[in-house]
Amino acid sequence: MTTHTLPGHPHFAYRDKDLFAEGLRLSELASIHGTPLFVYSKAAMLSALAAYQRGFAGRQAQICYAMKANSSLGVLQVFAQAGCGFDIVSGGELERVLAAGGEAGKVIFSGVGKTRAEMRQALLAGIGCFNVESEAELDVLSDVALSMKLRAPVSIRVNPNVDPKTHPYISTGLKGNKFGVAHEDALRIYQHAASLKGLQVVGIDCHIGSQITDTTPYLDAMDRVLDLVDAIEAAGIALEHIDFGGGLGINYNNDAPPEADALWQLLLAKLDARGYGAKKLMIEPGRSLVGNAGVCLTEVLYVKPGEQKNFCIIDAAMNDLPRPAMYQAFHAIVPLTQAAAVATASTYDVVGPVCESGDWIGRDRDLSVAAGDQLAVLSAGAYCMSMSSNYNSRGRAAEVLVDGDKAHLIRRRETLQDQIRQEQLPAV
Ligand SMILES: *Cc1c(COP(=O)(O)O)cnc(C)c1O
Repeated sequence: MTTHTLPGHPHFAYRDKDLFAEGLRLSELASIHGTPLFVYSKAAMLSALAAYQRGFAGRQAQICYAMKANSSLGVLQVFAQAGCGFDIVSGGELERVLAAGGEAGKVIFSGVGKTRAEMRQALLAGIGCFNVESEAELDVLSDVALSMKLRAPVSIRVNPNVDPKTHPYISTGLKGNKFGVAHEDALRIYQHAASLKGLQVVGIDCHIGSQITDTTPYLDAMDRVLDLVDAIEAAGIALEHIDFGGGLGINYNNDAPPEADALWQLLLAKLDARGYGAKKLMIEPGRSLVGNAGVCLTEVLYVKPGEQKNFCIIDAAMNDLPRPAMYQAFHAIVPLTQAAAVATASTYDVVGPVCESGDWIGRDRDLSVAAGDQLAVLSAGAYCMSMSSNYNSRGRAAEVLVDGDKAHLIRRRETLQDQIRQEQLPAV
């Protein structure tokens, strides 16, 4: 038997002609559970987490999985059992953490638009920290906490404004986006926070963007944040923790992001050099923990040759895999069973059944396919199921978590009954 691991996907490999997730043949999972089907490898998630854990060995550090990347309960349980905290962005995500056995005390609550009801819910649960994104939010949170005779633990998300000219990637840490507070306003806003009776200042945080594949922006952002820590502590406001956000990229298409442990070796050296090595550290990785731990299995419905383009029409669509339509993102697409050596490949646009021209999954792909063949859309663990929809009244896909040679169905396929449960016809 020859084994050939998929690039960037530990624990997914071809054994001879068949693609496996850990000990299980994916074509068998597809016939048992149907397609489209998300399949996640528990070992792949834990090995992504282990890179961060190695990076922080010997430090006081808390890894908070940014669960919007994939908020399925079975996925959350893997990280909760491994000791992770969670970075949430809504009251619904808090409910999911608790339902999956996560600890409220290890939850941090990010997002620009927290409602009073969500603040009350999070205070009642006893979350670890609110990552506050504006001055107005500080005032409201203090009010809500005082009305409950509590003090809310807060960190303020600062915008390091890392220069986009040197780092032209999708960014959230720049002036002119909705997140965080400006670097030059941060000290004043910290002083305001410290004056509010309903708040307890505990930390500082930043999050500069997503799918970052270079170390430089992280190092630059760390310098900018530590400059603020200097100033805030000099003003007499003690900070217990520093939270450096998430954003580390994964290999979608020959991308070469640093390993989490290598990145943190560089960052910790800077932190030590600036005298903050003993502070409690927090991070909020999402994509890098789950993205390449998941694939989406799909079946070819039709092959449609054309004058200008050939189309490979599959049973997964933009409602299952929204990233290509939303961000023109790339997902590799591979067969579950490799064709014979002399196969004749053609170039296809791989598209779904949804009635939108934007419903494409891959463009100009060389594939050797026929109707009934099964494919895997790779790097589908992050920002796929959690962004899925019922557009075109398509039910959400099922999800399977593979652990060694065991498959756990963690979400059954959505039925039409599931979809229309909240709807009612007006009485006539
Ligand atoms: C989305 C998000 C993350 C995670 O980003 P990834 O790119 O998935 O690592 C972390 N922190 C905040 C505040 C976020 O909004």
